[in-house]
Amino acid sequence: MEIKPRKKSDCGGIIMMPLKVNIPDPNDKSWEETKCPECGAVCWKRPLPKGFREDMFNGKMCTMCALKRGLR
Ligand SMILES: [Zn+2]
Repeated sequence: MEIKPRKKSDCGGIIMMPLKVNIPDPNDKSWEETKCPECGAVCWKRPLPKGFREDMFNGKMCTMCALKRGLR
């Protein structure tokens, strides 16, 4: 098992996507509507911070699935 240094986000390697039911109309136009690969709920894909790539994370899911898994 590989131990990686913690990044500034401190989020545990999962990209969390806010649910559309929680944020129906985001101010940020760079958010893209997508579906959670875990539960299929409509959620928002936000652009990753500078220097991050999607393949640096363990996966992505909506905030609800992250909560169910005990992630923050
Ligand atoms: Zn989900």
